[in-house]
This record gives sequence, structure tokens and C-alpha cells, in this order.
Amino acid sequence: MLQLNFHRSGRHQLAIPGPSPVPDRVARAISLPTIDHRGPEFAGLGLKVLSGIKTIFKTQQPVIIYPSSGTGAWEAALVNTLSPGDHVLMYETGQFATLWKKIADRLGVKTEFIGLPDDASWRRGVDANLIEARLREDSGHAIKAVCVVHNETSTGVTSNIKAVRDAIDRAGHPALLLVDTVSGLGGADYEHDAWGVDVSIAGSQKGLMLPPGLGFNALSQKAIAASKTATLPKAYWSWDEMLEMNKTGYFPSTPATNLLYGLHEVLDMIAAEGLDTVFARHQRLAAACRAAVKAWGLEIQCLDDACHSPILTGVVMPAGIDADAVRKIAQEQYDTSLGQGLGKVKGKIFRIGHLGECNDVSLMGTICIVEMSLAKAGVALKSSGAVAAMDVLKNIA
Ligand SMILES: *Cc1c(COP(=O)(O)O)cnc(C)c1O
Repeated sequence: MLQLNFHRSGRHQLAIPGPSPVPDRVARAISLPTIDHRGPEFAGLGLKVLSGIKTIFKTQQPVIIYPSSGTGAWEAALVNTLSPGDHVLMYETGQFATLWKKIADRLGVKTEFIGLPDDASWRRGVDANLIEARLREDSGHAIKAVCVVHNETSTGVTSNIKAVRDAIDRAGHPALLLVDTVSGLGGADYEHDAWGVDVSIAGSQKGLMLPPGLGFNALSQKAIAASKTATLPKAYWSWDEMLEMNKTGYFPSTPATNLLYGLHEVLDMIAAEGLDTVFARHQRLAAACRAAVKAWGLEIQCLDDACHSPILTGVVMPAGIDADAVRKIAQEQYDTSLGQGLGKVKGKIFRIGHLGECNDVSLMGTICIVEMSLAKAGVALKSSGAVAAMDVLKNIA
């Protein structure tokens, strides 16, 4: 039975790679009274967040904000740009790419999953050459969209999206580029316009430090043009009414007003810290986390040094150790949540989130808890990861 009447002192350490901890000032903003979403005050809020979010995607194009999870934003990207039976090329980076493919399959488009042999794709970034080669074969241009995950949250691998764009261009192929940056946005550098992305998909509860409940689609003119002829059924997700109403700061149906207060606050916070400073903070914390894993003598799920995620680190368990047993110790004994292994790596890895409202203090707390939990689970540690992480964090630029 769920017990809601217990008390543990201090704060729960939410070290999963999303939802990430919500900063107090964001929680306070969200607690303001809900206003009339058709009233005069609302337009100011609507216009401010609709324009502010563009700076995070680094785009001049419209960004749609749905009351939805990231999954809804995946669906929105597909139903607005595709027609039944369209061929879609998707790249298997991990569990989130797999789930996105499942959505596409259910919607009735023809999906093709590519990747490296033997599940190597779950440990490396997208190989853009595979995409280029496949598109070159498609001389009849049957493939209507290429779908890739920017930051694969199930593995801790961040792919080079510009390289995918370049591959599509080298192949001279007109397919749209749809990118899931649900967990990347706001933590890893992302450039919707400069990288030539047609639809970027994001959510509120990862790098944007909000509770779950907002889904985003950043668009391109090419994507908007495609939405005018695409015939997959779309009603709630349809961009056309959103784009029209958003011009005046309003929404066709009730927006998540209080989450938009939170988004307003987050945009102010990111502007104050500076987007590039936010990215550098994530890189620094991620480097410290990897130093800890290496010092423990454990493997990092990502094998490609160019693709380590700044958002999270996947920690591979030695043979005979159940990653979920380590997580259980952290949860029950130290009030700390670690991310579980998903899909093909269930029980084999756990994930440490270092995103959003994360700093040296919170990361060191997590690493110390992980170190104790690993030892208690019977993992023979080579040396102290906490000491190794401190060695990285001591060097303040
Ligand atoms: C969290 C996540 C999603 C799914 O978002 P939900 O809000 O859980 O629906 C999709 N893709 C990636 C990469 C994610 O991290």
C-alpha cells in the first residue's frame, strides 16, 4: 500500500534522468493562481513563453507547446508531417528510439529501424554514414522522414545531429529530419535552425526543470508545408489552429496555465545563467560523474568518447550484479532515486541523472550514495569514485 503519511528528513535525492528536480522558484511560480486563459492577462504570458522557448531551441521558427508528455509531442511530430503508409527511417539508439518507433508503427506508417549490429547502437552515437547509404539507395524518395534521438536517455549517448543533416544533404534526399531532444534540450547544445532540423520534439520534465506536462514541437517551414498535405488523422495535435491562435498568445484549447508560469520562470533562470554556461555546467558535472565510474572500475554504457551525454551517465554492472538491486539500496536506505535500465539493458545498467537543477553539491551527494550502494550490493570497487569526482570538481575554471 502506498504510504503517504511517512516523513524522511531532508530532501529526496531525485537523481534519475528526468523528471529532474524542480527548483523552488519554479515550484513557487507554478503555485500562483490560475488565470482565465481567454482573458487579457494571459496573452502576455503566452507571447512571452512562445517567444522565449525559441531561444532554447535556437530557432526563429514557431514552437508549439502542448499540454502533454514527450510521447504526445512524438505523436504530434508524426501525425502533422506524414500520411498513412509513408516510409520512415528511424535509428535505433536505445529504448526511446524503440518507443518512438512503436508510436509510428501504431499510427500506420511504414517504419524501418537501422543501426549497428549486435546492439552496438545502444552504446554509440548515430552513425550518419548508415543513414546516408540508406537514403542513396532510395532513389525513388519513398522515405519521407528520418527520425533520430538526440540524447538517448536509456543509454547516456548524445548523437551528432548536424552530421545527420549533412548525411541527408550529401545523399540529396528530400526527407524531413525529425529529432527527439526530449532529454537533451536545456542541457546539451541544440541548434534547431543551424542543424536544419524540421521538427524538434521536447518535453518539460528533463533539462527544462519543470514537472512533467508540457510537450514541444519546434518547426521548420518545410515541416509546416508538409503538414498542409499530410493525411494521418490529426485533431488535438494539429499544428494549424495552434499556429493561428499562438500569434496572439492564446491556445485553441486550455493550455497548462500553471506550467506556463513555470516555463516563464525557467526561461528567466536560463537567461540569467546563460545558455552556454548551462551547457558547460552539464559537461563539467558529467565529466566528474564519468571519473567516478572509471575510478570504481566500472564500465560506462557509452563507448564513444565523442558522444558521452552531458545529461546522464549509464553505469554497467559487473557480471552477476543486478543493477536494480543497487538502485533498491539507494532508494530504501538513502532516499535516492537512480534511473533503471530500460529495455535491452534492464538490470544490466543503472543511470545517474545530472541535469537541470544540478550542481556540485547534488552530484557529489548522488555519487557518494551510489558508492555506498554499490559496495553494499557486493560490487568490488577499484577505488573511490567520490574522490575521483572531487578531483575533477576541484578545478573551477
Ligand atoms: C522522457 C523521454 C521521452 C518520453 O517522454 P514522456 O514525457 O515520458 O512521454 C521521449 N524521448 C526521450 C529521449 C526521453 O528522454
